Amino acid sequence: MSTPDPDPDCPSTPTTTGTETYLSGGCHCGANTYQLTLPAQPSPPFPLVDFDHCTSCRRTSGALLQAWIILPQSWAVFHISSTFDQSHTVYASSVVTAGALRKELGGGEPKSLVHYASSPGVSRAFCARCGTHLVYSRVYEEREAGDGPEGEGDGEDFVGVSLASLDKDSLERAPRPLQHTWWGDGVPWLKEMIAKGCEEGGIGAMEKLEGYQ
Ligand SMILES: [Zn+2]
Repeated sequence: MSTPDPDPDCPSTPTTTGTETYLSGGCHCGANTYQLTLPAQPSPPFPLVDFDHCTSCRRTSGALLQAWIILPQSWAVFHISSTFDQSHTVYASSVVTAGALRKELGGGEPKSLVHYASSPGVSRAFCARCGTHLVYSRVYEEREAGDGPEGEGDGEDFVGVSLASLDKDSLERAPRPLQHTWWGDGVPWLKEMIAKGCEEGGIGAMEKLEGYQ
């Protein structure tokens, strides 16, 4: 499957001004794109970038390891297609903030994002066409005390955006993961390979091929 031209309203090239950094990304088929605005001065703990080993993220992503960039909802804007065809042509789209995402997913016109409540208060959004897992969000009112990223809880909901869904050039510019979360839930042999690093049997010591050879 080829990737369509980027949405002209959502430039694929990240740019940095004197005050902010703009990152962009989207799903594989291009029906959903987004922009993230990172302020020059971080607002601890945001942006929080991590490798997530929890069982829910592993199953919903279909990958051994999920990575998130977690930030206040106000830092993210999504472009959601409302009509499109099988040739990947998008005919109409709407722009919504991450805070309005759950409302957008609630009904009405068919959208290119679908919602899955993986646990109480948690919404995961996937592309309705290509299946890319793009967003994790949680409603503040339903969050248990002490849950969520450390330091978070000043009243604004956060959203997790799949780090792998960033455009490749944005990935180069994005903050790097600084921690493994839900480490205890991880796959034991994967954690062993991570811990070994470049030692024999470690993930960094594996043979490196340019494709299936
Ligand atoms: Zn898609």
